[in-house]
Amino acid sequence: MSEQFHKKKQYGQNFLTNAAIPERIVRESGIDDSCGVLEIGPGLGALTTKLSPVAKKVVAVEIDHDLIDPLQKIFADYPNITLIEQDIMKVDLDTLLKTYFADMPVCVCANLPYYITTPILMKLLEGKHGFRSITVMVQKEVAERLCAGHGQDGYGAITASIGYYASVKRLFTVTAGNFSPKPKVDSAVIRLDLYQTPPVDVADESLFFEVIKAAFLQRRKTLCNALTSYFPYLDKEHTASILEQCGLRTDIRGEMLSIDSFAKISNLIKKEKNI
Ligand code: SAM
Repeated sequence: MSEQFHKKKQYGQNFLTNAAIPERIVRESGIDDSCGVLEIGPGLGALTTKLSPVAKKVVAVEIDHDLIDPLQKIFADYPNITLIEQDIMKVDLDTLLKTYFADMPVCVCANLPYYITTPILMKLLEGKHGFRSITVMVQKEVAERLCAGHGQDGYGAITASIGYYASVKRLFTVTAGNFSPKPKVDSAVIRLDLYQTPPVDVADESLFFEVIKAAFLQRRKTLCNALTSYFPYLDKEHTASILEQCGLRTDIRGEMLSIDSFAKISNLIKKEKNI
């Protein structure tokens, strides 16, 4: 079947061809028969059919209409799989979770379409849906960025933002030859274990994320200059004093900051704003 199906580049369709890979993804995801699983982009079912025997229930959301018929045929032998034809970015996740997974913990497991990896991850996390874990295949370089610690190569706004919701672990690398068509770059599987409560105290979440955004917007600027030019109510003196109160040098750059420091800075800016 996969040979007849014309794969669509615009949907990031690189299908897994080596069955050992989805088996390993499922094994290392920690999913068991108490869990419901949301899969994004089942493609031709390589991962879905490995999830089904292990999980209590699988709901797979696929955007490509041309895949629905073939998938329905494949899934006929797997009664605990539900297939939904939809763009994941348009799915109301709260309704989906209530409808299909009312009484069970839910994990996400997917070989993500690369063109929307970050928007999908942010949708899954920002909505605070209570997912237990998110195990996903992403481009290797994205995995490196998401797993980087502060001060390390690749650490950026997305790393710090995701660190507020989950701990991220790199599981293993998957070389390009394991997909059809073969992508230009290798991939890696990562697992996000979501925090039940955030790891840092933040008085104003949207301000916290704004501070992270501001810090990485103009990477060549010092953090002090970046924050001063971003927030109209801060002048350089105030910003420097905020950094000093956090025990930071005033010439530090955003990439050196842990999320704990971002939290402290945003809490002090909030105070400053309210004065
Ligand atoms: N899971 C399959 C596998 O591992 O072989 C396919 C993975 S392929 C990298 C990504 C899949 O996501 C494709 O089936 C593609 O059609 C689907 N997809 C792309 N954009 C989507 C979206 N916005 N919502 C739902 N599915 C999407």
